[in-house]
Amino acid sequence: MSEPLILCENLIKIYRLNQEGGASVEVQALQGLDLMVNAGEMIGVVGASGSGKSTLLNVLGGLDRPTGGRAIIGKKDLGRLSERALDEYRRQQVGFVWQQGARNLISYLTAIENVELPLTLSGIVGKPARVRAAELLKLVDLQERAGHRLEELSGGEQQRVAIAIALANNPSLLLADEPTGELDTVTAQTIYDLLRSLNKDLGLTMVIVSHDPGIAKHVDRVVAVRDGKLASETVRVEKSDGGEHHVELAILDAAGRLQIPREYLEEFEIKRRVLIETTDEGILIRKPENHHEREHSSSAGEQAHPEYDRSLQAGNETLRAQSSWSKMWQSVKSRFTKGVRK
Ligand code: ADP
Ligand code: MG
Repeated sequence: MSEPLILCENLIKIYRLNQEGGASVEVQALQGLDLMVNAGEMIGVVGASGSGKSTLLNVLGGLDRPTGGRAIIGKKDLGRLSERALDEYRRQQVGFVWQQGARNLISYLTAIENVELPLTLSGIVGKPARVRAAELLKLVDLQERAGHRLEELSGGEQQRVAIAIALANNPSLLLADEPTGELDTVTAQTIYDLLRSLNKDLGLTMVIVSHDPGIAKHVDRVVAVRDGKLASETVRVEKSDGGEHHVELAILDAAGRLQIPREYLEEFEIKRRVLIETTDEGILIRKPENHHEREHSSSAGEQAHPEYDRSLQAGNETLRAQSSWSKMWQSVKSRFTKGVRK
C-alpha cells in the first residue's frame, strides 16, 4: 500500500456572506468530510451542483482555508500553515485545471507563449523558459501546435495548454474542476486519456471533479459528495475472467454513522428507526417489526419526530402513573367495599 498523500478528517468549510444591513448568512459548504487519497492515485469526485466539490478542491489546493477539521497533504496540515507557507504550498506542490481552460489563457498568444508566461512570472526567463514550455507541450501531446495562436486551437487543445501550465511547477498533486465540462464526449475521452497517462508516467496524484458519472471508467475510484460530506465510493473490482466491474460502497464516518440511499429507504418503507441485526453474511438493516411500528406510529401518524418521541415518553409516564394510581384506588375501593360488606 502506498502512503496517503491527502487526508481529510471531519473537514468543515463555512462561508459567511454579509448581507445588506449587516446581517450575515452562513453556508456550510463542507460538513465533516472524510477523505483519503493515496500518492499516485487518480480519483474522481462527483455530486450535485452545490454539494461542495469545488470547495473541496479549493481547500486541497490551498486557495481556501478549512473552517474546521483537518486537511493534510503530505505532511502539511493546511489549516495550520502560515499565509506564506500556504502560498508556497500552492505554488510548488499543486497544479490546477479549470473547466474553462481558455479563461486563464490569452487568446492572441501562441500555445507556447501561453505556457511561457507563467514560467516567466515565476522567474524562469529566456531560453530556459522556451525549452521548458516546449517540454510541457510535448507532455500534453501538443508540440505540433506550439506556434498556433490560442484562438486557432480547438477546445480540447486549449484544455491541453491549460494542463501543460498546470504541470509547469512539477506539482505532486493535480486538481481539476470539471476539466471536460465544455467538451464533447469524444474530446473529453482524449483529455481523460491524457490525464491518465500523466498520472501513470509522472506518478501524479489527481483529484478530478466531474458532473459525468461515466468518469468511473477513467479513474481508480470515484467518491460522491452529498451535502458537503462523502456519501459513497465506487471502486473498480477485477473479475476472475480478467474483466472488471464497479462496486458502489457506502461510507462510514469517523463516528460509525452511515447514510443509506434514499431509494432503499423508500423501497423498504423504512422511516426513522431500523432494526440492526447480525447475520452470517453481515449486518442486516430492517424495518422494525409490525407491533413495534404500530405502538409508535398510531397516534402521531407517519411523521415521527423528536417532539413526538418526547410526548410519547411523557404520555407513557402519565399512563404508568395513572395505572399505579388506579391500582391503588382499586385496592382501597376493594378494602372499603369489603369493610362495608363486613
Ligand atoms: P459544487 O462545486 O459541488 O457545485 P461548491 O463547492 O461550489 O459546490 O459550493 C458549495 C456550497 O457553498 C454552495 O451552497 C455554494 O453556494 C457555497 N459557496 C461556494 N463558494 C462560496 C463562496 N466563495 N462564498 C459563499 N458561498 C460559497
Ligand atoms: Mg463546482
